[in-house]
Amino acid sequence: MENSARLREFIQSFTHLVEQVGNDEEHIFVEGKYLLSELISHDDWLPEEFAKASAERYQQYLLYCDPLERFSVVSFVWAPGQTTPVHDHTVWGMVGVMRGAELCEEYELSEVFELDPATARLRAIGSHHLPTGSVDLVSPRIGDIHKVSNALKDSVSISIHVYGANIGAVERHVYDLHSGHKKPFISGYTCKVIPNIWDRSVE
Ligand code: FE
Repeated sequence: MENSARLREFIQSFTHLVEQVGNDEEHIFVEGKYLLSELISHDDWLPEEFAKASAERYQQYLLYCDPLERFSVVSFVWAPGQTTPVHDHTVWGMVGVMRGAELCEEYELSEVFELDPATARLRAIGSHHLPTGSVDLVSPRIGDIHKVSNALKDSVSISIHVYGANIGAVERHVYDLHSGHKKPFISGYTCKVIPNIWDRSVE
């Protein structure tokens, strides 16, 4: 059974948080990480339609967007072997692994980038494994460029992401590791609808 109250309560708490601290990233990372950890510690609320993998590519289902676009919540669903391109976000983001595990490879730009914005020299600065229940943080302040993959070879992984904007509408970048080319992109979302978390009649 889906417990849609969990997502609704998460959104209500997160809305209170942004009302209190605005876009203060350090506060969001402390309080918001606690809220996201709590949400992903219960895998009983994500509707099946928003947990479906596709053989084509990883899926990005919008679960909620704040009316003022101060934050958005997205479920990322990865089939075995799927991976993102190297990309940035340009806003703060939190990645909470709810099912399975993910691998995050981090990159940074070298100074060449400053001279010519169309090309970027990327340096790998490490990678880390994200097991079920872990929360990873990204932002231009603490490190914003990464590549994320499903760490499992034989099953689907799902992570719940929260970003400091309507992330599907933000112009950001993908990077070609070999040429160093930096290309603008707007991700959009996989789904045309979002979950109905407002029908309390069953509760
Ligand atoms: Fe990312």
